[in-house]
Amino acid sequence: MNMTSATFSVNGRQYSPPARPVVGICLDGSADDYFDAALVRGRMPHLQRISLQGWRGMARGAMPSFTNVNNSSIVTGVPPSVHGIGGNFFYDTAAGQEVMMNSSRFLRAETLFPKAQQSGRRVAVVTAKEKLRDIFAHGLVGPRNPGIAFSSEKASQARLESHGIDDVETLVGPTPLIYSGEASLYVLRAGVRLLEAGRADFLYLSTTDFMQHKFAPEAPEALDFYAGIDGYLGRLLEMGAVVGITADHGMNAKQRSDGSPNVVYLESELVGRFGTGFRVILPITDPYVVHHGALGSFAQVHLPRTDVPFVAEVISFLSSLPGVTEVLERLIAAARMELPADRMGDLVVCSGRDSVLGRTPEYHDLKAIEGGLRSHGGRYEEMVPLFLSEPLKPAYEARARADIRNFDLFDFIVNGTSAR
Ligand SMILES: [Zn+2]
Repeated sequence: MNMTSATFSVNGRQYSPPARPVVGICLDGSADDYFDAALVRGRMPHLQRISLQGWRGMARGAMPSFTNVNNSSIVTGVPPSVHGIGGNFFYDTAAGQEVMMNSSRFLRAETLFPKAQQSGRRVAVVTAKEKLRDIFAHGLVGPRNPGIAFSSEKASQARLESHGIDDVETLVGPTPLIYSGEASLYVLRAGVRLLEAGRADFLYLSTTDFMQHKFAPEAPEALDFYAGIDGYLGRLLEMGAVVGITADHGMNAKQRSDGSPNVVYLESELVGRFGTGFRVILPITDPYVVHHGALGSFAQVHLPRTDVPFVAEVISFLSSLPGVTEVLERLIAAARMELPADRMGDLVVCSGRDSVLGRTPEYHDLKAIEGGLRSHGGRYEEMVPLFLSEPLKPAYEARARADIRNFDLFDFIVNGTSAR
């Protein structure tokens, strides 16, 4: 396959890819513990080789440590303050509405895929969840844009005009259930098949965290799942791909020692102390799909009034609640967490490694999480692994030992390795 190494630039960064297949992978919800558990048991031999011959380290994700936020950062190379996606939804104060942000019209920066495509690369983006596809496909797929973008969730519905491909099931296999490990393995298999068929040479593969929400790192199901991932990594390496792997966020058990979910019900606490008028937004998930539990370690709070003494009293009250680790005013949170200030509440609240934030007990259906609650969203899920299949250039190795971000992924794969 002929591959160009023409340089292109996106959002202020220059990318000079090697004349080899480039594969960026986001393994959703992959806390470093998952890799450790599989590596020490010899279940990921290819990743072990990558760790020895290339690079294994940690990178800081974007806050809140959610899927859409971090995937948007990885594909644009910029923080949420620039690309505009600071959660799965936000409360539009002027319109008085909760607005979903799973559409590219909320994206304020372009992804690097159209430019990569225009530079002569064959670009394909595969995601497990359909909700991310629109963001990834923006400017990449269409009558005048010959890129490929599809989800494993809706693999059978991919059409040439809208997805750049219409034979996904023939190429990769039958469409998997979204609530399965196969939904993620399908994404990696798709990458392998596209590369084998010479239909792509610049890929982004983004999985889903169903397995990590359900299983702890040392569970046999999780180990088998990571062993499955490793098989596809081996195949990508065999084909000469330069591979970079990171995660959108980590994952922690959010429960008490008796196994019950450890929830701080912010709205109940605030109403009990100050009266009505508070709105707590939990941007971890779709506001209309409460069966997920909708519980994570990050919340936005809209206050009934914002005079200084009142705000100070609310901050002090929230900070005193067990499980709450951080309470920040909007502009301070926007600066520290690099969030879009116009799509936020008056306060940002985070909770600890073993606790989540909720609205009221009635709002959440805890039956869906009877098997145990594992979740993310806060600081304890902010640090994620970073693997590169090739040795890093000295300047990049120095950077990798400092405060690099998971959204430096493509910069590291394309510019940072010694692959040429
Ligand atoms: Zn995720």
